[in-house]
Amino acid sequence: MRFVDEYRDPEAALRFSKLIAEATTRPWTIMEVCGGQTHAIVKFGIDELLPPYITLVHGPGCPVCVTPIELIDKAVEIASQPGVVFCSFGDMLRVPGTESDLFTAKANGGDVRIVYSPLDALRIARENPDRQVVFFAVGFETTAPANAMAVAQARRSGVTNFSLLVSHVLVPPAIEAVLSSPGNRVQGFLAAGHVCTVMGFTEYEPLSERYGVPIVVTGFEPLDILQGVYLCVRQLEEGRAEVENQYVRSVRRDGNRPAQELIRDVFRVVRRQWRGIGEIPQSGLALTEAYADYDAETRFGVAGTRVEEPSECISGLILQGLRKPHECPAFGTRCTPEKPLGATMVSSEGACAAYYRYRRSEERP
Ligand code: SF4
Repeated sequence: MRFVDEYRDPEAALRFSKLIAEATTRPWTIMEVCGGQTHAIVKFGIDELLPPYITLVHGPGCPVCVTPIELIDKAVEIASQPGVVFCSFGDMLRVPGTESDLFTAKANGGDVRIVYSPLDALRIARENPDRQVVFFAVGFETTAPANAMAVAQARRSGVTNFSLLVSHVLVPPAIEAVLSSPGNRVQGFLAAGHVCTVMGFTEYEPLSERYGVPIVVTGFEPLDILQGVYLCVRQLEEGRAEVENQYVRSVRRDGNRPAQELIRDVFRVVRRQWRGIGEIPQSGLALTEAYADYDAETRFGVAGTRVEEPSECISGLILQGLRKPHECPAFGTRCTPEKPLGATMVSSEGACAAYYRYRRSEERP
């Protein structure tokens, strides 16, 4: 398959793994920020191709995993109301809230629909003018432009029965939270290529400089990740701390300017609660004043709720690179994809889901 097979070539992977081994003289800990990269690493056994003293730890870049529990509760509350069509990406449905999830709300009669784009939700709103249609807008900078476009289009075309339940989060503040946490052991980062396709990578340069860490913008195929690790190791070994771009086929330094403008028109930066991690300043997006009418929290009167997170799930530690999924006592026993205790077990980008699916135990030291 063109544009896939060439990035999964086993011989090229072995060549890269040899290069990495030759370049490495001491132990290094590198975090892949994005859950999509985590899945590729575990699925293709990329970590097993690395010298044993390179440790890859998994980062907070799974949007479903970090959606705060109170927003799941709000989603369930809104979805359970009569006259509402609640639209969401599929992997949000089984994410547990305090007492329920969207799947249960649907089983109990709520009109919860899986969509693949916010524009699908907008179409449903146009087709059902007598219903309130809500889209669960989760994601990092990658999904923000499409969500911004949906709400901008709704206003332009006079659709008033459409709103967003917004849970957008931003990558650079999350990297800073990892770096400034007292137990941090991450020495280099693989930054998420798709986020940088939208935002570019200038935001990472002050972080790299301030904390003295290499940050390599990296793609999602096995060879992308191996090359990203190689570039990161080379910097670490040479004592450099710069932002490098492995994903040149998609990422430009300044990113996609029209997409950034769209985000700025519709959203403003706010502090945001991250599931398992806590509140991170300036780490989320909310609708601007101009689009406040399209805010589902206000429209349905669910703003302001705060809930305690269950203590058994250690996903916050996993998302900060402090633990691995198999170190959770509930992994694969009390917590499975069918009966999850945390979002990282059900998200398609969740680290616990990746280990459960591809690797039940951890053989490497
Ligand atoms: S295995 Fe389950 S309970 Fe443990 S960290 Fe992962 S999601 Fe949470």
